[in-house]
Amino acid sequence: MVPVFVDTYFEGATPLRWEQEEEGVIDLYVIHDHARFSPNQQFTQWDFKVHIPPERIGSSVRLRFARLNNCWNGRPSPAMKSKRVTSVVSYDGSTWLPLLGIPSETAEFAIEFELDLRSESTHFAHVVPYTDSRLQQRLNALRPHPSVRIYDVGATVDGRPLEMVELGNTEAPNRIFLRARAHPWETGGSWLLDGLMTLLTDDTPTSRAILETTCFCLMPMSNKDGVHRGMTRFNVKGIDLNRGWGVDTPHDPELVPENACLQNWFSEQRRAGRLPQMAICVHNDDNGRIHPSHPSIDPAGYAARLERFEGLLREETWFTEGMVGGSYRNSGTFGEGVTELYGADAFIWELNARWAEGLGRQPMHTDWQQMGANLATVVQRYFKADG
Ligand SMILES: [Zn+2]
Repeated sequence: MVPVFVDTYFEGATPLRWEQEEEGVIDLYVIHDHARFSPNQQFTQWDFKVHIPPERIGSSVRLRFARLNNCWNGRPSPAMKSKRVTSVVSYDGSTWLPLLGIPSETAEFAIEFELDLRSESTHFAHVVPYTDSRLQQRLNALRPHPSVRIYDVGATVDGRPLEMVELGNTEAPNRIFLRARAHPWETGGSWLLDGLMTLLTDDTPTSRAILETTCFCLMPMSNKDGVHRGMTRFNVKGIDLNRGWGVDTPHDPELVPENACLQNWFSEQRRAGRLPQMAICVHNDDNGRIHPSHPSIDPAGYAARLERFEGLLREETWFTEGMVGGSYRNSGTFGEGVTELYGADAFIWELNARWAEGLGRQPMHTDWQQMGANLATVVQRYFKADG
């Protein structure tokens, strides 16, 4: 047997059981996230390290994921079957390489990866990790900047502070809100906001001009408990932070303080006459499209504004995926709720974790950072045309 140790004991690592049942093959028995009082369950998060003794460097192992039975909106779905499944690998903890999954021939195991072991420690994850520690380093570096204000809007179920990062002129006529990590595994939003914050604080004439007329309000890590625990989707009470946004259903501060405090923040902004005109909840999936909401007031105006925003995204970034059309609604999402409750142009933006059509390859964290940097110009042009 290959002498191997699967390390799941670091920040954000995914808890799972593992066994080497045959030479060079490691079976991974995953732990799904479960929704509270519902059949919904999901596993799409993996983040662990494979340790080997130095004399085994240059060998490889096959990783087999077992029993990936997801359930979404009450419907069972065999996770990651007959789809392109991707992962990322790092041998030094800072540079990351893409890795394509191999559809499994056994019914028991839905997906396999052939992992080259090029160092004593190989970091293997679904998408490039973005931990709370990393976020805190970024926020500490940003705090002294004169255009940045960082404050807590509340805390998670476990008591972790939830930061709001405001960049730009407090009295700016244009305001936009973005939230990342409602679902812990989806680090794309974290990298996107990371790139956006870097651009906005680079002290060039371009960024100064943007911050003069636009205030960016960012909630960079919404489901922090899930991020710390290496979870996939729900908070630790089994609540989906991208559900339960409705006119008649305020968020329960005991079950889902992550949403309740954000709802309070939106209400405070409204009282102060500072509501964001646009609100975006950033996610990852394997389609990569914008999911518009269906407002009861001025649906045509909303559609026209989103179309303009989407057009600017296509011009300024590698975005090509487009918008979800038709009348399909995913009711209770952040987008639908915030649009209806506060009249902001709110929507869900999914970043395709598998494939970036505009790049012709699997997107990496640096691509999402780049898109975030270019988003600053998208927002500036969007509001300019608005005025
Ligand atoms: Zn999501």
